[in-house]
Amino acid sequence: MTAISNRVAELLQELLGASSVQSYVAGGFLPGTGDELSLTDPATGSVFATYRDAGADVVAQAADAAEAAQREWWAKTASERGRVMFEIGRQIRAHAAPLSELECISTGRPICDTGGEPGRMAEMFEYYAGWCDKITGDVIPVPSTHLNYTRHEPIGVVAQITPWNAPLFTCCWQVAPAICAGNGVVLKLSELTPLSSLVIGVLCEKAGVPRGLVNVIAGAGPTTGQAMIDHPATGLAVFVGSAQAGSAIAARAALKPMGAVLELGGKSANIVFGDADIDRAVIGAQAAIFASCGQSCVAGSRLLVQRSVHDEVIEKLTAASARIPVGMPTDPATQIGPVNNAAQLSKIDAMVRAATSAGAYLATGGAKPDALADSGGYFYAPTVLTGVTPDMAIAREEVFGPVLSVLTFETEDEAVALANDTPYGLAGAVWTQDVGRAHRMAEKVRAGTFWVNSYKTINVMSPFGGFGRSGYGRSSGREALAAYTQTKSVWVETAENPVIGFGYAPG
Ligand code: NAD
Repeated sequence: MTAISNRVAELLQELLGASSVQSYVAGGFLPGTGDELSLTDPATGSVFATYRDAGADVVAQAADAAEAAQREWWAKTASERGRVMFEIGRQIRAHAAPLSELECISTGRPICDTGGEPGRMAEMFEYYAGWCDKITGDVIPVPSTHLNYTRHEPIGVVAQITPWNAPLFTCCWQVAPAICAGNGVVLKLSELTPLSSLVIGVLCEKAGVPRGLVNVIAGAGPTTGQAMIDHPATGLAVFVGSAQAGSAIAARAALKPMGAVLELGGKSANIVFGDADIDRAVIGAQAAIFASCGQSCVAGSRLLVQRSVHDEVIEKLTAASARIPVGMPTDPATQIGPVNNAAQLSKIDAMVRAATSAGAYLATGGAKPDALADSGGYFYAPTVLTGVTPDMAIAREEVFGPVLSVLTFETEDEAVALANDTPYGLAGAVWTQDVGRAHRMAEKVRAGTFWVNSYKTINVMSPFGGFGRSGYGRSSGREALAAYTQTKSVWVETAENPVIGFGYAPG
């Protein structure tokens, strides 16, 4: 039996016309048949909804629906598809307030953060709306009597699997380029945070996509997620999540075989040189690690500080970090809400304890804030660890929480070596007023995104993805369209009396 709390039920009723958690498949809601799963309010630690894992039958119905709807979608003109995508953006804007509240309650992200989310989601569909009629091929001047041209055709049905930290953002980030390129989608959210993305499935259909083009599944990874990868209709696996699960999914996809796009974790270096504007760098360092309570794939979790300014940076950073308002996510004054779930909170605390046992010094944080001591919520104070050395686990492994590790360096070469001393390569940044140094660092740090005197800005127009263990493929910008299409080469004989022989013709 599905149970749900009052406010969430009201929001779901307003946004979905339903008040229970089920998968959205082919324009309707389908209950799962698997184990019971529960949704917990990160701000209180209490369960606010239960539902059943979707399971393979629901996945099969979604894949069939996506296959049929994809044919209908691809039969429309490119301009028609663009107009529908633009309308999806309008629908998201029209439902902005309840959507951002639902995201806030179900993930624990502060309303000051989720409040701006629907606008960014709408931009994603609007940007790709403009691409629908600009996916063009080439005419290639082959040395024969043929006209040779290319077409970029959809994959067909794509399986997309996303994590719990920013479900609405990652859902739209993946769905928009997929349908722009003419595909059908079966999308599975994290079993911990499926609600807001169910709304996106509904709004896509309200805007006019064929019924079943965007199916949103509520279920767990090893059961429902795996069934999505294995389904015969699935032609591409798009995964956003941990490196460990990403490897397993890519291996499974390779058995078919089919392609995969992997957006994985990071251990990004935020580098402060002595010539930087230190006050700005300190603000940037806080935003880099503490936004979204550190639960961000691009979090600047390693702060590399030149020794000459180390003490000044630490003094300012520690004082400022201790002042950041931590509190209930629905309070507009809150800047850091709770960690999303109990398991993640325990992992964060264990990693901080291990770091201090290994010799790191706790400059601030390292526990639940005193003011929230009686709360059942998963709160953790913004934490700064100094004296971290490159061999410590805290400097090497993703924490995915509000924990900053500070390391020091003397020279530019040393900064580059430290920044690249990780198998990950998602993002990085440098703070300096030396323009030559800024460009040298942008070239030498191995990462898919790099900022100069800034941190964390990303936009749908610009390609985003990882180097190394942070994954492969790009999820935004024009480059995402390459992942979601396959190229066909068409040869048309134009000679009056062509010679048709055996073997490959010289072309
Ligand atoms: P996770 O890997 O545990 O789960 C992510 C998703 O994969 C969930 O939907 C889960 O149900 C599913 N899943 C897990 N095992 C599966 C399996 N065997 N088969 C199919 N599906 C499976 O990650 P998480 O804990 O939810 O999220 C945190 C991670 O996500 C962090 O490492 C973070 O850096 C990463 N992340 C990356 C990006 C990016 O764009 N690079 C963005 C956000 C988060």
